[in-house]
Amino acid sequence: MPSHNLAQIKIDDLEIIGYSVAGEETVVAMPQLDVCFDIGKAPHQIISINHILLTHGHMDHAAGIAYYLSHRNFSGQSPGTILAPKNLLGPMREIIDAWTRLDGNKVPANLVGVKAGDEYQIKPNLFTRVFPTKHSKGSVGYTVLEKRKKIKSEYAKLTGPQIVELKKQGIEIDNPLEIPIVTYLGDTQNVDFSQLKYIVESKILIAECTFYETEHSGRAEAGRHMHINEFAELIEKLQNEHIIITHTTQRTPMRDIRRILKEALSPEKYKRVILFMDKIRR
Ligand SMILES: [Zn+2]
Ligand SMILES: [Zn+2]
Repeated sequence: MPSHNLAQIKIDDLEIIGYSVAGEETVVAMPQLDVCFDIGKAPHQIISINHILLTHGHMDHAAGIAYYLSHRNFSGQSPGTILAPKNLLGPMREIIDAWTRLDGNKVPANLVGVKAGDEYQIKPNLFTRVFPTKHSKGSVGYTVLEKRKKIKSEYAKLTGPQIVELKKQGIEIDNPLEIPIVTYLGDTQNVDFSQLKYIVESKILIAECTFYETEHSGRAEAGRHMHINEFAELIEKLQNEHIIITHTTQRTPMRDIRRILKEALSPEKYKRVILFMDKIRR
């Protein structure tokens, strides 16, 4: 039985499922990439995903880790891999140890500490790259990118045997090619993410925009969250084809959020935007 209904989006052949309301729960999974950004309360639908990419330790984003590990163990799955900011690994191990004592069963875990600039391999051609965010100590975001090789233009017209011959001679005939598929910002204030080319060029951007009303700008600042004014400024500098907004506040009704978004964004950006919580399947 599903724990609760999740939002569902499909972009080309990539599904994005999850739930994201500020202070309540944030979990965003992309099953085809085998990654789940943050884990929320570990809804049933994401348990079989093998890579959990945690952005920071706030309860609404991270509470589900012990349940995820325990349930995978219980159902005979491997522990999977949980990537998390390095400074969180100690407390995460303490929680898992405490649950082992509470539950009476060992909870196997594979925790990997990350910091800005790190890269981690998910599948043979699929990697995640870690970048800094401005939210809590050590908080990070993740880009998932595909790495391919592209034959150099001067060799493009060669036949198979000619290519084999060049390779035998040790000649490098390919250029490395990176295709950023998705960037997940997690919770963050705006920092100039346009400095990072792989964020600018990610096909999909999943970004928090928590607050919308003018009188909420102080709350955004205090909690280190994005206000619509900051968000509008940020996305003008990026080139993402699809922009998914997560972490919306419960203080503003969805219909007002929709209206404010339309007013604040240029038409060209507005048409690329999807409000994640508009896509809940009932
Ligand atoms: Zn949050
Ligand atoms: Zn947070």
